[in-house]
Amino acid sequence: MSKIILKNMDITINLNNGTTIPNDKLIIAGPCAVESYEQLLMIAKFIKSKGANVLRGGAYKPRTSPYSFQGMREEGLKIFKSVKKEVDIPIVTELMDARDIDKIYEVADIIQIGSRNMHNFSLLTEVGKQDKPILLKRGMSATIKEWINAAEYIAVGGNTNIIMCERGIRTYNDYTRNTLDLAAVPIIKNEIGLPVIVDPSHGTGIKELVKPMSLASFAAGADGIMIEVHPEPEKALSDGPQSLTFNEFEDVVESLKK
Ligand code: PEP
Ligand code: MN
Repeated sequence: MSKIILKNMDITINLNNGTTIPNDKLIIAGPCAVESYEQLLMIAKFIKSKGANVLRGGAYKPRTSPYSFQGMREEGLKIFKSVKKEVDIPIVTELMDARDIDKIYEVADIIQIGSRNMHNFSLLTEVGKQDKPILLKRGMSATIKEWINAAEYIAVGGNTNIIMCERGIRTYNDYTRNTLDLAAVPIIKNEIGLPVIVDPSHGTGIKELVKPMSLASFAAGADGIMIEVHPEPEKALSDGPQSLTFNEFEDVVESLKK
């Protein structure tokens, strides 16, 4: 890694609700997947009232099995549009396929590149041409150098508004869904200075671990967290076991404020 243009670029990311990173902490919350208008509206209102500054949710879902719920797709994007009008909160949602870029661009304030696509160089090149911030999740088997190179793929296209997201990596530990690599936070800051957030929901897969890992993320210097929230996690169409109830989410935010 000799040529790294992102090194020492001093990047500030501005969202249209006045949030600026790294000056403000990002609290991104929402369901794993958009399931209905009512679901997303209820979650958006709640998380905003508790201090979240970005709403998350998948319309296009990268699922391990082709037989699992794949997301509401275009219908999900329409729901996002309506909810945004009603609640006025920036949105982050995942782009899986370059053919969907215009549709996603229209509703997303931050475009998410998921763990499974961190190595998709043509997709990285496409979002490098966009003028919206990119949330780049770490590949589940990616080294730090590979992750930084993925960010470089985006940056060379002209888009340096990149937020790195540590979401856990695969190790021999099979107790948690992934092993959350919190050392990645100060490493990324030292290496390229980009904002870094942590996703303790996918990083652990266990809702009880979300609060302690959120606190640890802030202690490690993270610029924010991304958490899955669902009004009835046991009924969620995806990732119920790692999703927090409203009360649990409120508890995490209160603890972080302290
Ligand atoms: C997500 O955040 O919706 C997601 C699918 O996460 P990851 O890409 O980290 O698995
Ligand atoms: Mn999920």
